[in-house]
Amino acid sequence: MTRFIFITGGVVSSLGKGLASAALGALLQARGYAVRLRKLDPYLNVDPGTMSPYQHGEVYVTDDGAETDLDLGHYERFTGVSSRRSDNVTTGRIYSTVIARERHGDYLGATIQVIPHVTDAIKEFVTADLDGADFALIEIGGTVGDIEGLPFLEAIRQLGNELGPERSMFVHLTLLPYIPSAGELKTKPTQHSVKELLSVGIQPDLLLCRSERPIPDSERRKIALFCNVVQDAVIPALDVSTIYRVPISYHEGGLDVQVCKHFRLPHDSEPDLSRWTNIVGRVTQPEGEVTIAVVGKYIKLLDAYKSLAEALAHGGIANNVRVRLDWIDSEAFEGEDPVDILDNANAILVPGGFGERGTEGKIKAVRFARERRVPYFGICFGMQMAVIEAARHLAGLEGASSTEFGPAVDPVVGLMTEWASGSEIVRRGADSGMGGTMRLGAYECRLKEGSRAHGIYRSAAISERHRHRYEVNIRYRERLEAAGLVFSGLSPDEVLPEIVEIPDHPWFIGVQFHPELKSKPFDPHPLFTAFIRAAVEQSRLV
Ligand code: GLN
Repeated sequence: MTRFIFITGGVVSSLGKGLASAALGALLQARGYAVRLRKLDPYLNVDPGTMSPYQHGEVYVTDDGAETDLDLGHYERFTGVSSRRSDNVTTGRIYSTVIARERHGDYLGATIQVIPHVTDAIKEFVTADLDGADFALIEIGGTVGDIEGLPFLEAIRQLGNELGPERSMFVHLTLLPYIPSAGELKTKPTQHSVKELLSVGIQPDLLLCRSERPIPDSERRKIALFCNVVQDAVIPALDVSTIYRVPISYHEGGLDVQVCKHFRLPHDSEPDLSRWTNIVGRVTQPEGEVTIAVVGKYIKLLDAYKSLAEALAHGGIANNVRVRLDWIDSEAFEGEDPVDILDNANAILVPGGFGERGTEGKIKAVRFARERRVPYFGICFGMQMAVIEAARHLAGLEGASSTEFGPAVDPVVGLMTEWASGSEIVRRGADSGMGGTMRLGAYECRLKEGSRAHGIYRSAAISERHRHRYEVNIRYRERLEAAGLVFSGLSPDEVLPEIVEIPDHPWFIGVQFHPELKSKPFDPHPLFTAFIRAAVEQSRLV
């Protein structure tokens, strides 16, 4: 029997609802329950795949090829449960489903309305494909009071009624701002936000209160009184030094016990939080520090590289070092000498990206890393830049480029129009739409015996997640390998290059996929562990 916990947010956005949901998932797991986390996003895009990273942050890709909200990344990193297409839905997708059904004649005779047709479609989504999880944690995007969120709130209100309190619970995340001149934490915004929820028929069962300082009991009592919850269900969610402390801090605040009490589940024993205490110990007592230069484009909004920053931190956890990230706008290299900018880095990483702007700077960063023998990790676009750099400066193909930037003399990176996905052939034309048309999701890759990649993965076949439109052109393989760039990972049909490396270099690897999407703090990705280890070794040389 699956129990549902609905998580809404109030007062302001950016309170970390995704992280809070993920941490609650981790806590319930630590009590031995199976969890599944999902997110309902109230915007009209069918998925976030077409949104700018500046607007929305990273697009998180699942194994089954869905482009989803970055909160799903938090869910996976905190619980280890692989997300699926069915774990993220938007208003846009719900409406397109309902409209397609209407056109198909599924509702013949009826007038299609938000209630019940749209709300039914939402409920269907929320309750489907749960694999018998003990708990489904359903996060509702946006802030209570937003017009867009209303159909979702109505749908979960109905579900709450249908399931009853023994199978459903409403958790509301709010903020208690601290007013320095009064020396007080203020509860009024929380009261108003709960009122807003009540106005759509939802009485929260538990309040998770974000606050930068401890919440006095008197204030918890006041919130309980005004918001109609028991005082023990007003849980402090205080700022913590590292996000990995959040599950521990929630437990100290009594969150898991309250949830168990609500569902009448046993709560006398302690949850096993050793996984989190270990990680916090390593993060707060590192034995050293390395600096990684991340040369990218979307550095003004670091959420655009959320999983990447996390995976690098995980590599630090594996090596007992703190990883300092130096975010560099690749356009900075276009005028200046990269030496001045990159000299302090123990390793260089070029992450995923789209479009021509800033690419010459990225290529300069690759060249610097290759010639100076500084560890280099190229991810997706970063691999493509490494291939262009090697083609131009090692193989003498001066006109080497990617067709993403227009016609090229030597298209070492080009648009693939056909590729194998399992036993199927996927086809795409230059005029295919933009949404959902990239090579998306998990694909198998075979590793070359004896290569560095093979040594790192310790396996001949791996599976990693993709999100890109262009591919390294296999026709240049011989010329590039002769020049020193080895193709150490290929698709099973040997058509798509997946990994390139330079054996005669301390650590130089480019991967076409996004390994950062699968890294977890308690299970750091082997490529990030090896990359940070190489950075540590480099730091000992200087
Ligand atoms: N722009 C490149 C492509 O579409 C790389 C994409 C990426 O880095 N995710 O192939």
